[in-house]
Amino acid sequence: MDPVKTATEKRGLEFLRQGGALADFPLLRDARAKEKLVFLDSAASAQKPQVVIDAVDRLYSSEYANIHRGVYRLSQVATELYEGARGKVQNFLGAAKSEEIVFVRGATEGLNLLAHSFVRPRVKAGDEILITQMEHHSNIVPWQLLCQETGAVLKFVPLTADGELELDKLPELLTDRTRVLAVSHVSNALGTINPLAEIVRLAHEKNVPVIVDGAQAVPHLAVDVQALDCDFYVFSGHKLYGPTGVGAVYGKMEHWRAMPPWQGGGDMILSVTMEKSTYAEPPACFEAGTPNIAGAVGLGAAIDYVNEIGLDNLTAYENELLAQGNEILGQVPGLRIIGTSAHKAAVFSFVLDGVHPHDVGTFLDSDNIAVRTGHHCAQPIMDYFDIPATTRASLGIYNTTADLEALAAGLLKIRKFFRV
Ligand code: PMP
Repeated sequence: MDPVKTATEKRGLEFLRQGGALADFPLLRDARAKEKLVFLDSAASAQKPQVVIDAVDRLYSSEYANIHRGVYRLSQVATELYEGARGKVQNFLGAAKSEEIVFVRGATEGLNLLAHSFVRPRVKAGDEILITQMEHHSNIVPWQLLCQETGAVLKFVPLTADGELELDKLPELLTDRTRVLAVSHVSNALGTINPLAEIVRLAHEKNVPVIVDGAQAVPHLAVDVQALDCDFYVFSGHKLYGPTGVGAVYGKMEHWRAMPPWQGGGDMILSVTMEKSTYAEPPACFEAGTPNIAGAVGLGAAIDYVNEIGLDNLTAYENELLAQGNEILGQVPGLRIIGTSAHKAAVFSFVLDGVHPHDVGTFLDSDNIAVRTGHHCAQPIMDYFDIPATTRASLGIYNTTADLEALAAGLLKIRKFFRV
């Protein structure tokens, strides 16, 4: 019998349906036991399984030294762990080479790196940057800054009432002045999964490179950057059950090689004189200074954890929860879901007639139900739907139908309290 396959089967779909993953997350397990916490805010940041906590603990307890520079064994151990984590990210994203993966602080830093080093050198006044109306602020503001600096024009693909992209507008928005298309794979505020392969194909037909913000996609679906053929793919570790302060950027090697460095400092150089410096090969030339070694190692452990359960099992399970959630929340009068695309991750953004989302969040908290309220760093979406904010319940590997039932019961209580 194949032991790997057996382990995966054991921790597969049925394991998730039984709520088995909850026991892997000490904070949730203990808080559930003590105060019946229902955690529905994984899109903001996911909780951490014991294996990730242990990997970080082990690194600092017995494997830690600075990397790359040491000839002594401990430094080599730490270097191997850090570079091993790069290999895990490579396999996770389906990249051809581990050198195509650059570690960063998170999706935000990755997008800023690309704005500065990939897009800035190719943009002149009057050129166009294309994004969409469903982007997180991290995939809007770096482009606004770039446009202010260069005189380029920021354009966006509009939304439909279901919270999808109006893709029939894409061909005409991709002009011969478009220098890049930056688009999210999954919307954090709506849950919409964008048809990325099709978007990339349309952009490439016009020779426009595509940067993908995958921050909300990697915790929910298997990604294959080579099949997608995107030019860059960016994500944060903390939404994938990994530590904060670490994330990764995949880029095609031909792009990394053509890009100037971003930050200068140790580890990104070949040689330095008082007059000039020469730079290391990618990815080192984009990782100036001592990186987040423990973060990368923890991210590697998070990837192992998710792989053990299987991304396909996770997607299938979350699809089940999504269907159940639509039904359960559909029984709450006055509740309107914002973002009703047929292709969605397990995110429920909603408004409740007559009650402000902040009140909804505060009242749910008094029942130990943690949801997020506000604009979710995606104000243009709120403008489109003409609402100030939503309440968002976003699911993770540890949530179950019972959590959705608790949410609906909490909302019915709120309706009673506000007499709506
Ligand atoms: N993009 C999306 C779609 C996100 O949801 C987030 C985080 N909410 C980010 C980018 C930014 O990620 P981070 O704050 O980890 O840099």
